[in-house]
Amino acid sequence: MHRKVVIVGSGPAGYTAAIYTARANLQPLVLAGSQSGGQLMITTDVENYPGFPEGIQGPELMEKFRKQAERFGAQIEDLDATAVDFTVRPFVVRAGEHMYTTDSIIIATGANAKWIGLESELKLRGKGVSACATCDAFFFKNKNVFVVGGGDTAMEEANFLSKFAKSVTVVHRRDSLRASKIMQKKAMANPKISFLWDSEVSDVLGEDHVTGLEIRNVKEGTKKRVPADGLFVAIGHEPNTILFRGHLETDSRGYISVSDRTRTNIEGVFAAGDVKDARYRQAVTAAGSGCEAALDLEKYLEELHHKHPMENEITTSFP
Ligand code: NAP
Repeated sequence: MHRKVVIVGSGPAGYTAAIYTARANLQPLVLAGSQSGGQLMITTDVENYPGFPEGIQGPELMEKFRKQAERFGAQIEDLDATAVDFTVRPFVVRAGEHMYTTDSIIIATGANAKWIGLESELKLRGKGVSACATCDAFFFKNKNVFVVGGGDTAMEEANFLSKFAKSVTVVHRRDSLRASKIMQKKAMANPKISFLWDSEVSDVLGEDHVTGLEIRNVKEGTKKRVPADGLFVAIGHEPNTILFRGHLETDSRGYISVSDRTRTNIEGVFAAGDVKDARYRQAVTAAGSGCEAALDLEKYLEELHHKHPMENEITTSFP
């Protein structure tokens, strides 16, 4: 099936791009993924998205984004894009057995939480090991939990966990935090939160649930075991770009490289949101970026049509 626009991803960037391209009469197809909605689907209170003075639940906000895109005619399929070919025109995007050709594409696949990389961490994921306090804090009422990381996410997770847990210990590999001053202050003033400096989690203990941690002091090289009920990993994010590696230029961390805000190295392929933004990573900035990509794409298609007025006919008959 041929499209003028395919949008891959369904977080704030993807859905906003869908709203704008749908309103520009481009009938976008959104490959929303089998778990649509992006990172906000695993967030509870969103208190910094403008327009919701009382705050809103993440999944509810994403449902509103989706409905708004559908209202203007975006076709949204809960399918994972599985392969792309940007060497041909029109481009080819596959989602399992479905194949689409498209004149242009917006990549808005977002980013996911990073893990420490321990075998025991993987084994106990969902059994006391988590990367989302807002999803799992409830299970740790009156428990002793640990948070790894020294950035804003770690501070946010620690503060949130302190509403449920008996104690929260932040394990950070250096002796100073990366988090913003306001977040540091809040965490340090919280009587339930304490810090283990110059330390890393070198093992997660337990068979079918977390019972403790092995902590290594990175300066002294010493190890100690501490009892623990839960481990929250908050050490940053990784862009979802595996599908596009080798097809598009990325930076050393895998984020899609863009020029002029949303243009990738392939004309007609645009990127929006966290997949190209390691810096701001906010729902509102991702939404803004989705809007930018849609407007840039619209201009690109107009120029393409002026350059090759017959091209549309050729592309629309592509199988
Ligand atoms: P981040 O700023 O990159 O911080 C990651 C933290 O994890 C750093 O302290 C880092 O240590 C540590 N770390 C990284 N890899 C590690 C490993 N393998 N083992 C142990 N520790 C490791 O990531 P983030 O906290 O997710 O924040 C990302 C961006 O989102 C930032 O710009 C942040 O300001 C923003 N953000 C804002 C808010 C808010 O304003 N409400 C909330 C969350 C995030 P080092 O410090 O030693 O490098």
